[in-house]
Amino acid sequence: MIIQLQKDVNEQQKAAITDKAKSIGYKLSEARTQYGHYLIGIGKADFDIRQIASLPGIADIHRVSDEYKLVSSKWKVKPTVIDLGDGVTIGQGDLAIMLGPCSIEGEEQIRQTIQHLKETGVRIMRGGVFKPRSSPYSFRGMGIDGLKLWYKLAQEAGIKIITEVMQVSQIEEMYPYVDVFQVGARNTQNFNLLDELGKIDKAVMIKRGISGTIEELLYSAEYVFSGGNENLILCERGIRTYERSSRNTLDLNAVPILKEKTHLPVVVDPSHGIGIRHYVEPMALAAVMAGADGVIVEVHERPEQAHSDGQQTLNHEESVQMIERLRKTAQLRAEFV
Ligand code: PEP
Ligand code: MN
Repeated sequence: MIIQLQKDVNEQQKAAITDKAKSIGYKLSEARTQYGHYLIGIGKADFDIRQIASLPGIADIHRVSDEYKLVSSKWKVKPTVIDLGDGVTIGQGDLAIMLGPCSIEGEEQIRQTIQHLKETGVRIMRGGVFKPRSSPYSFRGMGIDGLKLWYKLAQEAGIKIITEVMQVSQIEEMYPYVDVFQVGARNTQNFNLLDELGKIDKAVMIKRGISGTIEELLYSAEYVFSGGNENLILCERGIRTYERSSRNTLDLNAVPILKEKTHLPVVVDPSHGIGIRHYVEPMALAAVMAGADGVIVEVHERPEQAHSDGQQTLNHEESVQMIERLRKTAQLRAEFV
């Protein structure tokens, strides 16, 4: 059960609602976000919802049988749209395209990427400055100085930034320079990090864990939402299976399933999903047909020289072709829905 409280609800009213819920076998937790104030009820008892709905201080009440509550489409039927400002949105409507290198490497590379985005009308740039690498000897990113440099150039070009935050201590220093905080697949269940991201007002994109289930991804999103931040995006990026002919198994099944279960926007990362450059475009197109609200793709002026993930990175020419086809595919999909 989710109880949406009125803005001016007082402590006495909250106590009365909590007592009533308790008497019918529900335990309530409180969540206050940038957009709403909620009481989330956990319990199994069957009851007449009007017993609670008539209490003062309540704006709306919904039954939500799912184990996750606030991210469920059972109470919020309207899809969530993330507004990054300056006309850049993710969810419902235009397909969101996010492009950029795996890692931010330096000024020239940032400029080349921004130029490519401007030429193709793409408004969100991806790139890692803190890189989770399987080997400690691989390039681990330019850190906060790289982010500041990137921010300066992106600001001038009207480009939004999505980048990975790896630990709680980075949030504060990154905050002024980031539009969307990415939680990487290795951190999907870093609950301390999720708790802290619930306390900020910037958008967060949570990637599915390397061997995480769809339900676990929704639980991770529930951490951030119940912590106070509704600006959430989910990302399917492939899971580890027994299949070895691709880097991961991009689970496009997750797209329609997530779209049904949650009101949050769903983005697909075909680069990490398949891990093979020539197959990135077809998987991106397939993601759109499956209903994705956006794609996030690795591109680089010279993929063979990229500091990381070159084997799955498109060059700018390949990217131009993909973008054109993505837009056509999005139009085609719009005819079906
Ligand atoms: C990335 O986006 O560069 C990345 C490391 O992704 P993931 O967490 O999905 O592996
Ligand atoms: Mn990468």
